[in-house]
Amino acid sequence: MQNIKAYNTLSRKLEDFTPLNGKKVNMYVCGPTVYNLIHLGNARPLCVFDCIRRYLIHAGYDVNYITNFTDVDDKIIRKANEENVKASEISEKYIVEFFKDSDGLGVMRSSVYPKVTENMDAIIALVAKLVDKGFAYENEGDVYFSALKFDGYGKLSHMPIDDLSSGARVDVSEKKREPLDFALWKAAKPGEPSWDSPWGKGRPGWHIECSTMSEKYAGDTLDIHGGGQDLMFPHHENEVAQSEAATGKPLAKYWLHNGFLNIDNTKMSKSLGNFFTVRDVAEKYGYDAIRFFLISAHYRNPVNYTDKLIESAKASLERMKTCREALEMAVANAASSSEKISEEVENFTAKAKQDFDSAMAFDFNTADAIASIFELVTSVNILLTKQTANKNELLKCAAVFDELTGILGLDLRDNGSEKIPKEVTDLAEARTAAKKEKNFSLADELREKIKILGYNIEDTRQGVKITKI
Ligand code: AMP
Ligand code: ZN
Repeated sequence: MQNIKAYNTLSRKLEDFTPLNGKKVNMYVCGPTVYNLIHLGNARPLCVFDCIRRYLIHAGYDVNYITNFTDVDDKIIRKANEENVKASEISEKYIVEFFKDSDGLGVMRSSVYPKVTENMDAIIALVAKLVDKGFAYENEGDVYFSALKFDGYGKLSHMPIDDLSSGARVDVSEKKREPLDFALWKAAKPGEPSWDSPWGKGRPGWHIECSTMSEKYAGDTLDIHGGGQDLMFPHHENEVAQSEAATGKPLAKYWLHNGFLNIDNTKMSKSLGNFFTVRDVAEKYGYDAIRFFLISAHYRNPVNYTDKLIESAKASLERMKTCREALEMAVANAASSSEKISEEVENFTAKAKQDFDSAMAFDFNTADAIASIFELVTSVNILLTKQTANKNELLKCAAVFDELTGILGLDLRDNGSEKIPKEVTDLAEARTAAKKEKNFSLADELREKIKILGYNIEDTRQGVKITKI
């Protein structure tokens, strides 16, 4: 296992990855605002941070992975009013839809999914603490954070205060003192859900929820805080200001940001209307093709989405699947033996593992990691063509294949032989035995039975192949 290096947005440098508490890693990735189906852009952080998490687990870390659900927000409230339902009905509905897509994409479930509505006391307590410490002020039921009171405001986005300030002037509210100040608490408006607080009825601003949840579920300092590049400012900058003003400790040791998924070189976003939902694209190409497409670039690079590129991702994935299936078949048809693994197989499997590890250890380069799996595919295909491999060699190839693809969350055997009913595989085994005993009439009979159950059986160079009719 190699030493891991990660590019830290905070320092703008590649740094050695050394978590705060040995093998424990606290990782927080900002989650969705649940008011619609997620689009491909939203799927990018889901998939890339899932690969990072899986690689850290593989490297022996115990990862506590936190994702919040923003279930109180202007957009949710607007949609609820349009549909004449409660805001919670909208958020609950889209949390269910989120899980369908996230599970479909092969994203591991987070350790915890805290919601704003379930953490209101903790949010209010943090806002009150910031008021007590003089970092925040109340004005007519709103509470604002005084950005300039926090020494170091702008350190994450690396922007001079003047630039940030002139950018923020566009949405100056009457109630805040400075353009860069931001809302921690908003006074209730008619027709909006609200909660009691020391400042009257209201609801939290957006940024405060992440500071609250990360402290609640991971303590003062996270090892990794992740999200898309668009969150760097103001969201993450404001999280830093709030949390560090409250605790006096760094909010996160490493800040990781994924690049944009673009369409015609413009960021895919709900507000621009240039988006495709994950659901629609999955229907056409499959969830696994989306995942493969999203992780086939380095997480920090921009990716441009086109039909052609996802089709090519699907074709690459198929190449991997075909190789894995051929391997599976060869294993099933090879006789058990205690034969040794040849130097050739030892070497190419070790090289694939080594190259994969080097790629992932160097700032989680999934693009190069995928290239190392394709090297393995080439070597395995050559081995299978030669038809000289013993069972131990085949098993070794399969194990390395599964280990590496598993770290990237690619389940290549998902739509393979696993779904074939046991009744059919039992009949196929009996047929192979009958053929070995040269009982061809029984073998034909068994083939017919398999056909009646809806499956074709075919003898290939790697052995028996069963497919649905
Ligand atoms: P949102 O619901 O807009 O807060 O987005 C949820 C997550 O998706 C955040 O981490 C965003 O940074 C990320 N995200 C949104 N759009 C894109 C995009 N086009 N490319 C990459 N990441 C995105
Ligand atoms: Zn956040």
